[in-house]
Amino acid sequence: MFEAQGLMVFYENMLALNNVSLSCGEGQIIGVFGANSAGKSTLMYTLSGIMLDIARKEEMAGGERITIRGSIRYQGREIMEHKPAQRARAGIILCPERRRIFPESSVLENLKIGAYLASRQQARETLEYVFRIFPPLARIKNRLGGFLSGGEQQMLAIGRALMAQPRLLLLDEPLLGLSPAIQYWLAKAIREIRDQRGTSIIVAEQYARPIMPIIDYGYILENGSAVVEGTREELMDNPDVRAAYFGT
Ligand code: ATP
Repeated sequence: MFEAQGLMVFYENMLALNNVSLSCGEGQIIGVFGANSAGKSTLMYTLSGIMLDIARKEEMAGGERITIRGSIRYQGREIMEHKPAQRARAGIILCPERRRIFPESSVLENLKIGAYLASRQQARETLEYVFRIFPPLARIKNRLGGFLSGGEQQMLAIGRALMAQPRLLLLDEPLLGLSPAIQYWLAKAIREIRDQRGTSIIVAEQYARPIMPIIDYGYILENGSAVVEGTREELMDNPDVRAAYFGT
């Protein structure tokens, strides 16, 4: 349902994505693993279209020249030139790195803001679902976003993305800065979202260990290139991947 081919992103003359191709079938969970600066956020911005906005803003401000190339097909259409809002309306929703929730709005308000693409009926149903899958949020629904723990903020960020009715959910480093126990709990919740709602998910992460068990297929990103790809089993059996991501 989603297929990116030959993605290239240059920041001025620095190559941040080098000929990256990846695909995500209906209801699949795809992992993209890479160290700091491997290009994960650049990839997620390119898939969601936000890279187009970043490039345009830089150009208007007379800043660096950002060049984006490649093809993205989604539900049979080429969407590379589609703006992020248009992609969001089609169901491609990014949950960005570092949560980006509104600290001065309550949990409930943050979730309602996410429902801008939903009908009232969908918003009501999804709100109930978010509280079911993330029970801690239901208990603190009137608390301000800025007063949440890291794990609660991440639940809220994913919950808000769900409110926008994603068909393809892009999660950029959802586990960053969280304790191992919460990382495993969240990974399980991500799989439940796919199982229960049929949402296709692409998750970019540094920490392969908690995410690897939930993916159908994955890519290893190094210096902007997808150097290894394979099913969960193939990646787990690959000695280079094991050494780099599992320390074994
Ligand atoms: P992190 O885990 O640190 O978020 P990442 O894998 O998401 O890393 P990116 O943020 O995509 O990596 O960055 C990829 C490369 O592009 C890095 O070398 C980064 O320094 C560089 N980069 C990112 N944004 C810009 C920019 N606006 N201008 C120039 N270089 C950039």
